[in-house]
Amino acid sequence: MQKKYLMTPGPTPVPAEVLLAQAKPMIHHRAPGYSKVFLSVLDGLKYVFQTKNEILVFSSSGTGGMESAVTNLFSPGDKVIVVNIGNFGTRFTQICEIYGLNVTEIVYEWGERARVSDVAKALEADKEIKGVFATHSETSTGVVNDIKAIGDAVKDTDAAFIVDTVSGLGALEFKTDEWHVDVAVSGSQKALMAPPGVAFVAVSKKAWDMVEKSTLPKFYFSYKKSLAALQKATPQNPFTPPVSLMLCLDEALKMIREEGLENIIKRHNVLGEAARAGVKALGLEFFGACDETSNAVTAVKAPEGIDGKQIVKIMREQFGITIAGGQSKLAGKIFRLGHLGYYDKFDILVTLSGLEMTLKELGYSFQLGAGVSAAEKVFMENPF
Ligand SMILES: *Cc1c(COP(=O)(O)O)cnc(C)c1O
Repeated sequence: MQKKYLMTPGPTPVPAEVLLAQAKPMIHHRAPGYSKVFLSVLDGLKYVFQTKNEILVFSSSGTGGMESAVTNLFSPGDKVIVVNIGNFGTRFTQICEIYGLNVTEIVYEWGERARVSDVAKALEADKEIKGVFATHSETSTGVVNDIKAIGDAVKDTDAAFIVDTVSGLGALEFKTDEWHVDVAVSGSQKALMAPPGVAFVAVSKKAWDMVEKSTLPKFYFSYKKSLAALQKATPQNPFTPPVSLMLCLDEALKMIREEGLENIIKRHNVLGEAARAGVKALGLEFFGACDETSNAVTAVKAPEGIDGKQIVKIMREQFGITIAGGQSKLAGKIFRLGHLGYYDKFDILVTLSGLEMTLKELGYSFQLGAGVSAAEKVFMENPF
């Protein structure tokens, strides 16, 4: 037998309590029993999003939530800015372009962090900009953007601020209201410890005003339809929701409340620090600006002469540990360790240990145990 470990930045491991929730008998989505679950999920999400804004829930992965922000706020030809630091920034650009928006991209090399001054300059240069899109935690590179600072630059303009925090929410600090985020998008399968299949958006007053004017076509992902269903006497979704996944999400959000956001963020800080300490002790290099803020995913360069894909393959096949490779242009060049969600100290130690044995096998030269030892030190110095 081989025990399996899922160490990717989504999907992530799901606690047994959460998995069991979906084994409960089916309930009807128009009856009061479901409303209770739905409202409880919305309450939990408001806590995690740190928002008083309305939250809408869709049956889709995170990308559906991203698309919903485009179709519900904008009209063909609207000018928008996409802050693009990697694969998921590119996705926002692709969605905006397919719907006929007029996109100005602020593009950075993969591995870089966005500079607020660039966003401020672009907004200053064109007063007709109606939206600014940004990624919180860019999962493809491990880099985390300063959303608070970008929010400050956008807040006094006519533009809505749309943030993809699919891999940030529930792992890193994220304050929807305080940071002036008009549509915050996230999903169930990353730090929220639930199976894939549910996306959610927190929609501000400024965004709702834009929803009123938007002419792009939308049906299944219509914010107005969602809001109308939510405001019924028995709050519900416009179409059949993934009832079992909602039960999972409800359970996961209860666990999140129990631990408390502050403790969760602290735990992720230490997990990230331990992963980085381990990687560094092995003499490996981080990719780009992967630094002390990169507490959801650690992106590491494959050592000179070693194919990153081989590292991922050996870890999975020989040691049962699934990590992520590089996406698109980084395929084979980097590998990524996910530590967002249901992770504890020993998950990091297992991963580093598997990484060490894999690297040894591939002929990379280092002191066996050095990575694990460095991570252990971090854990001993930072109890949680
Ligand atoms: C996972 C992820 C998404 C959504 O991807 P889906 O496969 O549609 O869930 C979007 N943005 C970021 C930053 C992500 O990590």
